[in-house]
Amino acid sequence: MSALMIEIDRDRETDSKTLPGPMLLLGAPGAGKGTQAKELVKLWGIPQISTGDLLRANVALETALGKAAREIMGRGELVPDTLVNEMVAVRLLEPDTVRGYILDGFPRTLGQANWLDARLEGQPEALPVVAVSVQVNYNQLLRRITGRRICPLDQSIYNIYVNPPKKDGFCDLDGAELIQRDDDTEEVFKERMRAYAALTAPVVEHYRAQGRFAEVDGDRPIAEIAAEIVAAVERLRMQPGAGSYEI
Ligand code: AMP
Repeated sequence: MSALMIEIDRDRETDSKTLPGPMLLLGAPGAGKGTQAKELVKLWGIPQISTGDLLRANVALETALGKAAREIMGRGELVPDTLVNEMVAVRLLEPDTVRGYILDGFPRTLGQANWLDARLEGQPEALPVVAVSVQVNYNQLLRRITGRRICPLDQSIYNIYVNPPKKDGFCDLDGAELIQRDDDTEEVFKERMRAYAALTAPVVEHYRAQGRFAEVDGDRPIAEIAAEIVAAVERLRMQPGAGSYEI
């Protein structure tokens, strides 16, 4: 069978029987994609590939890509597909992606989704992607975005309203001073939501039409959402054409 051989990793503490192959987390800004991706990384031992994180790293390092992306990101708009696709292509060449990966924040446009499909079709051993969208209502998203604080050292995510650090302003794990992303303001959030509705909503329909899409309610405890994502991915992999597991 052509499906990527996906084995149970019994060394990891997980009740999931499977690895997901390539999967995507979709959802509006603040839906908790990053938080969930980190849960899934712990569970499955495959990498999180966050295009937002990769772009921010490029901005910090002042690479050519970072210089091109900086102002666009600051306005809450999307970085052009060609630049983002190229960045993802390079990341997917890393050997840690062989057993699967979690794309977080990519694809965000139909152009990116088509590019990813074409790329995977060119790799006969790879499963097609399955997509899970995390749903959270507008007011919650706004609260999560404006309350979000991040540890610059270990990337832990806090929220001053619902998940504050023990000591105000500092990471519980390493004591570093927490930071707020430049684009986590109400004004930029509104632009990011506009971009999401106009450009990313069609991506959801793209995967839904192919039977490779599921939605989970993101307004619940983190572990519950993660368990539901795992169940959704397992279900989706049983669909015809979405690959199947070899257990
Ligand atoms: P995020 O961390 O996913 O919220 O992304 C932060 C910002 O990075 C977005 O508002 C965009 O400007 C840019 N960005 C991240 N991922 C993409 C993508 N797949 N396509 C275009 N722009 C992106």
